[in-house]
Amino acid sequence: MKLFHSNRDFEYEDESQQWFELILSNHLEEARSRAFSLVAEGVRSDAGCIETPTLDARKVRFKGKQLPAYRFVYCILNEVRAGYADVVRHRCNNRRCINPDHLEIGSRGENLQDERDFSANGVDYTLL
Ligand SMILES: [Zn+2]
Repeated sequence: MKLFHSNRDFEYEDESQQWFELILSNHLEEARSRAFSLVAEGVRSDAGCIETPTLDARKVRFKGKQLPAYRFVYCILNEVRAGYADVVRHRCNNRRCINPDHLEIGSRGENLQDERDFSANGVDYTLL
């Protein structure tokens, strides 16, 4: 298992990590096909985003849990057991985007920094 935060000094699995562990271990094929169909239903924008046809970030329900579609898509396709402290970030700053190439994982602090950078500089499309 890959740990994203070296400042975690104990191995506590929160409910989010446990859920991803269960899905990745027992329901990976089903989860992957759900993730691919979410991406396939999305609409590709000029900026390369794949947007869900919803006003805000789409939610997905899977195996008793509801979570944002972008978090589901990122974690399933990258097989990441994300905990509550791990946020899936939009490099394109488009919360409706579920393009796996535009998503990356980080901490809540980094996510806030992204929002500040975006307000100051806009999206840097050279990163995408
Ligand atoms: Zn995007």
